[in-house]
Amino acid sequence: MNPSDWDEEYAPVCDVCNGESGGRYAGLACSSLGSVSFAYCGRCLEANAEPVGMLRAVREDAGYPQNLAAWVHDLTTWWDGAYISLAALPPLTPADGG
Ligand SMILES: [Zn+2]
Repeated sequence: MNPSDWDEEYAPVCDVCNGESGGRYAGLACSSLGSVSFAYCGRCLEANAEPVGMLRAVREDAGYPQNLAAWVHDLTTWWDGAYISLAALPPLTPADGG
């Protein structure tokens, strides 16, 4: 393995869009939804986006929409090639394990 292979294999990728948005990797940061860190790209940070699993966990566990703070409704996630709102996120299906 030469150094360029190493860089390619271990290059950090955004946990929200998996690099699909074309955003440049920005770094690790704490999620706004809990004490866990994720890798984010610049576009996902600008879109106020969180990994889809975090939004689903909040929606399924916290009591959507009445029990969520107003700012949570402003979060987005990357879904099917675009940023979408929490309200637009499709519900879990049995195929998702939900
Ligand atoms: Zn991203």
